[in-house]
Amino acid sequence: MAGELILIVEDNEKNRKLERDILQFHGYRTAEAENAEDGIVLAQATPPALILMDIQLPRMNGIEALQVLRADARTRAVPVIAVTASAMTQDRQKIMAAGFDGYQAKPIDVTQFVAAVRAMLDRRGPEGSAR
Ligand code: MN
Repeated sequence: MAGELILIVEDNEKNRKLERDILQFHGYRTAEAENAEDGIVLAQATPPALILMDIQLPRMNGIEALQVLRADARTRAVPVIAVTASAMTQDRQKIMAAGFDGYQAKPIDVTQFVAAVRAMLDRRGPEGSAR
């Protein structure tokens, strides 16, 4: 299914542009937030099909933002992929233990990134409810 809305939460403008360009090139619609607080407001107002969440953000970090999203009925079921420069195994385990649906390391590997997005959206099924 093309045209699904994906929310990018990322404070680095270059990373945000890269993710936006890749996703739009593959036919997805995108929304963007530069911080967790704005991302949460956007997600609550218009729940996206998927959220790509940076971990290191000003003030509230991506892990804290995930807890807020999971505690809210409007965004509880939205899959969230962590996108972070923390490539260490320990960090990855901590991130997955926090409840993220997936993990992508920065710098982004375009092929792997697109595959992860596709897989996550496919997993939701045609009704968008099968998680
Ligand atoms: Mn960041």
